[in-house]
Amino acid sequence: MSEKLLDFRSDTVTRPTPAMRAVMAQAAVGDDVFHEDPTTNELQEVLAEMLGKEAALFVPSGTMSNQIAIRVHCRPGDELLCESTSHIFNYEQGGYAQLSGVAARPVPGHYGIWQPEQLHGLIRPEDEHLVRTRLVCLENTHNRGGGRVWPYETLEAVCRWAHQHGLCTHLDGARLFNAVVATGIEARRWAQHFDTVSVCFSKSLGAPVGSALAGPRDLIREARRHRKLFGGGMRQSGILAAAALFALQHHIERLAEDHQNAQRLAQGIAQIPGLTLDPPDVQTNIVIFRVDPELGTAEQVVEALAQEGVLMIPFGRRHIRAVTHLDVNAEDVQRAIDALATVVQHLGKQKPSAASAPGGPYAG
Ligand SMILES: *Cc1c(COP(=O)(O)O)cnc(C)c1O
Repeated sequence: MSEKLLDFRSDTVTRPTPAMRAVMAQAAVGDDVFHEDPTTNELQEVLAEMLGKEAALFVPSGTMSNQIAIRVHCRPGDELLCESTSHIFNYEQGGYAQLSGVAARPVPGHYGIWQPEQLHGLIRPEDEHLVRTRLVCLENTHNRGGGRVWPYETLEAVCRWAHQHGLCTHLDGARLFNAVVATGIEARRWAQHFDTVSVCFSKSLGAPVGSALAGPRDLIREARRHRKLFGGGMRQSGILAAAALFALQHHIERLAEDHQNAQRLAQGIAQIPGLTLDPPDVQTNIVIFRVDPELGTAEQVVEALAQEGVLMIPFGRRHIRAVTHLDVNAEDVQRAIDALATVVQHLGKQKPSAASAPGGPYAG
């Protein structure tokens, strides 16, 4: 195949642009464990300001950011409430248990979104037999929910309920800026409902590495201790912080293009017999669709698609996820649709028996 490989597996696959690499190369640096890296300090200040928080902390990954947040909010024997398909519950090795001695209570949502009434009665009474309900974690946009954006009033109601009952709130905002661009609701307005907010620079914003945790100054000071403990204290991190700053300046508004490309992709997929969008509507940069069992498993479709030079990811046995990002354009989307149509037509003729395939691998 002479054409370039089109990679729709995740928005983490983007490579730094030449302009981003240029600012990285020129970044002013120092030792950040000594608080002496000017670019990292600047990034933390800029992000805290954008999120309307007192302080922020640059960390190597979204997983570390979430896990540090859990660590600062909870003590061993506490419990957090999270959505059943959330990243924190499914894709972080139960880090809340491994690292912080915390239990998680998963509550199923509709494509990742709860109704506030679902939570009523879930707070455990004070009783020496029971864990203590302590923290509520939300994810916006919701990855497994197909990039769903929380309806603003629903999110507000859930957080109000949490705070009224003395619970802390944490937002896993790995793709918060997708929610910002999709709704026009500023990041600080989403963030104001949470004690702490995690965002990723390495996802849709196109930076090579990095996430950040924002919140009140005293909590972020505590978070800094745990970052060191978890092995995330970095030295001349300004090289990476420069990329994140560049991404905040140049790669937020353009997320609208990714959302348009996801719409195009979804419309194309909807036309292909045997493929069904699930969720049926695409709100941001993630498209999830179901494969008719007549065509085989999601894994088999993904393999055949890779032969055509298009990469997507199986999400369980029947579903496939495709993510649009900085490194795919409208033309690439059309090629992906054509490749899918070709593959589906071919597999449809083969009529495979229901062959076995493992559940899908992780997709960040
Ligand atoms: C990717 C992702 C994370 C974690 O990010 P890493 O940097 O891969 O650790 C957390 N939450 C959500 C919703 C994500 O999509």
